[in-house]
Amino acid sequence: MTLLSVQNLDVRHGLLQAVRDVSFDLSRGDVLALVGANGAGKTTLLRSLAGAHLPAAGRIALNGQDMTKVPSHQRIAMGIALVPEGRRLFSQMTVEENLLLGKTSGRPGDWTIDRVFSAFPNLVARRHAKTGHLSGGEQQATAIGRALMSNPDILLLDEVSLGLSPLVVDRVYAQLQTLLTSGTTIILVEQDLSRAMGVASRVICMLEGRVVLDSPAEQVTRDEVTKAYFGLHRENNERVAS
Ligand code: ATP
Repeated sequence: MTLLSVQNLDVRHGLLQAVRDVSFDLSRGDVLALVGANGAGKTTLLRSLAGAHLPAAGRIALNGQDMTKVPSHQRIAMGIALVPEGRRLFSQMTVEENLLLGKTSGRPGDWTIDRVFSAFPNLVARRHAKTGHLSGGEQQATAIGRALMSNPDILLLDEVSLGLSPLVVDRVYAQLQTLLTSGTTIILVEQDLSRAMGVASRVICMLEGRVVLDSPAEQVTRDEVTKAYFGLHRENNERVAS
């Protein structure tokens, strides 16, 4: 059954149309990698799903319920949680306090502080540390944990690797593996194609606001996604080379 349905979504920044006629459906347990070059519209799409940026046209429904115009704090209660680019933690608050904040606008469910600490064991010793004093990897784990505390049906992850060393990114992804195998539905914006395709069940590539490739991950090669990334994808793009 469809969990998330996105139909003909247009999202604007003033005169600039950042997302153009985007449609896709997600089922429970899907892990969607949303890829594309800088400025392709990935973050704008994610923010519009989270309610941080209302679309100019189109429809977003979760579990069959229209939420196109629902404000972001109510979307959290409906089951959508965003881990924004840059993490946006409260740096003067502790890990535990940040995690508890995730509960306030969320809904009841299986995610508790203890479960977050068992998914991200590197946070246990940092429980009472202010997040401003944490390493990048610890901050990212806290941001993901905070989103999970709202017990989302869908977790939106925007560039979890940004600003982290390759070693730390490996660790964050190893921790994400627990989520990926526990049936959590995830939309993952990731610049690193190999990494994204390594964990995703589905890949959508955006170019200049449009979807130029949408495929089950196992039915598409890295080469095909790279072509779509640069606008050379044969089936879906008018600007095909040759
Ligand atoms: P990146 O990987 O660089 O984050 P992206 O695929 O996430 O890129 P967006 O950040 O969604 O792309 O940007 C899509 C388009 O919207 C770009 O042309 C960008 O310049 C523009 N844009 C994004 N945010 C704003 C904003 N707040 N005001 C005006 N234009 C914006």
